[in-house]
Amino acid sequence: MKRAYNFNAGPAALPLEVLQQAQEQFVDYQGAGMSLMEMSHRSNLYEQVNNEAQALMRELLGIPDNYKVLFLQGGASQQFAMIPMNLMREGRPAAFVQTGAWAGKAIKEAKLIGETVIAASTESDNFNRMPELSEIQVPDNASYLHLTSNETIGGTQFAEYPDTGAVPLVADMSSDILSRPIDVNQFGLIYAGAQKNLGPSGVTVVIVREDLIAESPKSLPVIFRYDTHAKQNSLYNTPPSFSVYMVGLVLKWIKSQGGVSQIQQYNANKTKLIYDVIDQSGGFYKGVAQPGSRSVMNLTFRMQSEELEKLFVKQSEQEGFVGLKGHRDVGGLRASTYNAVPLESCQALAQFMADFQKRNG
Ligand SMILES: *Cc1c(COP(=O)(O)O)cnc(C)c1O
Repeated sequence: MKRAYNFNAGPAALPLEVLQQAQEQFVDYQGAGMSLMEMSHRSNLYEQVNNEAQALMRELLGIPDNYKVLFLQGGASQQFAMIPMNLMREGRPAAFVQTGAWAGKAIKEAKLIGETVIAASTESDNFNRMPELSEIQVPDNASYLHLTSNETIGGTQFAEYPDTGAVPLVADMSSDILSRPIDVNQFGLIYAGAQKNLGPSGVTVVIVREDLIAESPKSLPVIFRYDTHAKQNSLYNTPPSFSVYMVGLVLKWIKSQGGVSQIQQYNANKTKLIYDVIDQSGGFYKGVAQPGSRSVMNLTFRMQSEELEKLFVKQSEQEGFVGLKGHRDVGGLRASTYNAVPLESCQALAQFMADFQKRNG
């Protein structure tokens, strides 16, 4: 089999080694005479899967003991609602950094729960950059400040995070979690749908400081309360067991690559190949994000005309590339180069882009 050059935005590429490992264990998990999917989530074997994935997450991100690691369902989109439900307090607005499509969805959902304020916005720049930290104005009485560490559609990424003092910082890291080291202590809550950088779809990781989930409003449905899932070790109801298992395999793979710092270096090398072609193309390719805000995960670029972009996508597909069409809301082109996308795919894309320019420039 020839693996596609997979630049899908999500669900996205998984490490080949992980897929092969899962294949080996697919029909008969650890000699149990059944697959993991056929097993009780109360079994010892599944409990090991659950605990091991949590422990690896803690180890790789350096998560302190006063944080919980939860595996939930409903995607990052469900967190857009669960966060304000659990963390908003009477008379204390939720503050947001408006940086594009995903931040916008989080804001829309929070507005249904309570009062929101915009602490910074880059809308007047068409969301082609992240704000400077000095632009972010957090009201002292905010329940929390929410930001999107990497805007998957726009292709912008925060280089560093604001110090929000006593106001908890909440970050949607769906598309860049584990792509670089972070100081978890800076955050009150971090969340990420798995299907970009962590595994298959179906599970959402939430890392949350314990004190923040101690007093969710009593009126909240049990299933939407963080404390429910924390108390039950993410086994309150039937978990997406196969997805959690796959996340565990991906985390083991990251560890085997040398951990998050190594992955960060690898990612930088990968994306440099492609950004260099853009920057050296004399305007044939135009990066969408301002250079200081460029994402290392989602590389967005445009060409002189939509016809040329269409031709680019068509010819790329003929040569084994997948997923280079930009998001339908913004058009253009996008290469998503998550952790599991191999260097070879990026080398091939850089070469294809240079060749395409030669033919059409
Ligand atoms: C993909 C994505 C989401 C939505 O994730 P779902 O799991 O589909 O709900 C939210 N935020 C960001 C930054 C994303 O990239």
